[in-house]
Amino acid sequence: MSTHRITQAIRIRADQTPEKEHSSPVFLTSSFCYDDAEQMRAVFADEKEGNIYTRFSNPTVQEFTDRLVALEGAEDGFATASGMSAVVASFLTFLKKGDHLLACNAIFGSTHTVITKYLPKYGIDYTYVNTSDLASWEAAIRPNTKMLFLETPTNPGLDIVDLAAAGAFCRNHNILFNVDNCFATPIGQTPIEYGADLVVHSATKWIDGQGRVLGGAILGKKDLIHEVYLFCRSTGPSLSPFNAWVLSRSLETLDVRMERHSSNALYIAKALENNPQIASLRYPFLPSHPQFDIAQRQMRNGGGIVCFDLKGGLQAGRNFLDSLKLLSLTANLGDTRSIASHPASTTHAKLTDEERAAVGITPGLIRISVGLEHRDDILKDLLQAI
Ligand SMILES: *Cc1c(COP(=O)(O)O)cnc(C)c1O
Repeated sequence: MSTHRITQAIRIRADQTPEKEHSSPVFLTSSFCYDDAEQMRAVFADEKEGNIYTRFSNPTVQEFTDRLVALEGAEDGFATASGMSAVVASFLTFLKKGDHLLACNAIFGSTHTVITKYLPKYGIDYTYVNTSDLASWEAAIRPNTKMLFLETPTNPGLDIVDLAAAGAFCRNHNILFNVDNCFATPIGQTPIEYGADLVVHSATKWIDGQGRVLGGAILGKKDLIHEVYLFCRSTGPSLSPFNAWVLSRSLETLDVRMERHSSNALYIAKALENNPQIASLRYPFLPSHPQFDIAQRQMRNGGGIVCFDLKGGLQAGRNFLDSLKLLSLTANLGDTRSIASHPASTTHAKLTDEERAAVGITPGLIRISVGLEHRDDILKDLLQAI
């Protein structure tokens, strides 16, 4: 029976057999055994399907991967130990000395460090382009440009990049289109529909959604993911089966969780938008968002993040954080518990003032990861702290 991707994210199982246990078992093993020498030879020779060693593959990790592949509408995937190992594997599998990477300037802090500090050590050059100015991207293309990397919505500015336009740009220039889909999740948007060759994830955020484990994944076309697999099975960023088991259960509830995260976020955004203490507020599904039309076109919901800038700047931001009673102060996001964070002093502390300004991070910018508490309790805490 052919089923919807949401059903597949619940029903795909590690052992592929009729259910004996209602929750699928966790294959907590580092290697796998064979009946005889011939079976072992055939599996090693890739003539027969089978697992060899958990750095290469593991049924529990495969279950998580297959479910995420279904959700993203990808052909194949490889799960990694963290979002950053997915990002790094997506770069190092496809980029080599002498290549050039185009990246949007508003990206996750550690990804920025990888691009600016580590890739150049291996002779891989980069150019940052302005996220919301696609016309300027043409000028940044070089004969050796191999990949475009972007996040949308961006963190923490919540800019929306036009995925269809970016996909067309990459096709025209015959370069790989690599999207970090952590913020939207495959429930909110599926970049492969718009021509993404690779989708990377931090499963640590919304996918886990309960602040328990680290994980990541790279999804895409079969031939590309085979290259990722060969890179990862040798270099070893593979996801642990235990974390995969946790994350696979998480995918079963991702759709309903994201529906509530985003309806709570829209409620909060609407309630705070005209607050006299707030200089500006951003949420992709508010008509006041500068890329509202693009967001409506490519996203199924506005996501769980709301950002605002307090009029009092840095000191008002700090006072706000110190006044919160319910919300957690942590640099993480995508949790059942609502979280307030201050990007300028945490996730984006490594950027210079100019780099922060270029991606819209003001000293007083507050990022709220809207949780699953009752929406009026979240709002009440935000209002009293403001
Ligand atoms: C957190 C995050 C990452 C890194 O993921 P880890 O699981 O922490 O390694 C990458 N991209 C984005 C957008 C993130 O928010």
